[in-house]
Amino acid sequence: MTKDTQCLICKRQEDEPERDIILTTDAFVVRHSRETNIFGYLVIESRRHILDLTEGTEEEAVSYGSLLKQVMSLIRKLTGAERIYTFSLGEAVPHFHVHVIPRTDSLPRYYRGRGIMSYPVEPGLKEEQMEEVCKSLRYILKTSPTKP
Ligand SMILES: [Zn+2]
Repeated sequence: MTKDTQCLICKRQEDEPERDIILTTDAFVVRHSRETNIFGYLVIESRRHILDLTEGTEEEAVSYGSLLKQVMSLIRKLTGAERIYTFSLGEAVPHFHVHVIPRTDSLPRYYRGRGIMSYPVEPGLKEEQMEEVCKSLRYILKTSPTKP
């Protein structure tokens, strides 16, 4: 796999314990975000150091589609979200990753739609909250009939 030693996502995939990883495929890693306190906020990261899918293979592009569907279903089952936001910017870390964020009815109106970009990144979830939500997500995944 292509890695960049200066890249935060490549480094994290190499070094860090897998506590926040929900699932992995040949091409992608799905983990719970540590950037906010939103339960079920997942990030899909490519295993290879690519900027976006234009640098991906045909297989990566195809598998991304079915993985995104699976991740969105997982989030909906966990949170009952009315909307699920997805976006990829690649500005802070130029390694392909997609934010997949549940928008539940408890999210204040101010943060809905494009307002989600203003949602505070601190505080993140506490470690025990993170473990609990990851455990729930893995359980749903294990017992879910929809796998790609
Ligand atoms: Zn990278």
